[in-house]
Amino acid sequence: MTTCQDCSFYFAVPENAGDYEPGRGDCVTQKEDAKGKYWLSKPTVHATPSCPTFKKSK
Ligand code: SF4
Repeated sequence: MTTCQDCSFYFAVPENAGDYEPGRGDCVTQKEDAKGKYWLSKPTVHATPSCPTFKKSK
């Protein structure tokens, strides 16, 4: 099963960050609307099953 950890949009919370917890990260994806492109960040954990937006990280 693929999980967020294998996704190129997954960014682990750095250990020196105030909200650090093992396995915790953010899903950061680029969106586009009428005003242009922007980044959307939402919290996730590395073991979360991948969603339809999943893109394998290299
Ligand atoms: S929620 Fe989807 S797009 Fe975001 S990191 Fe997980 S698999 Fe990737």
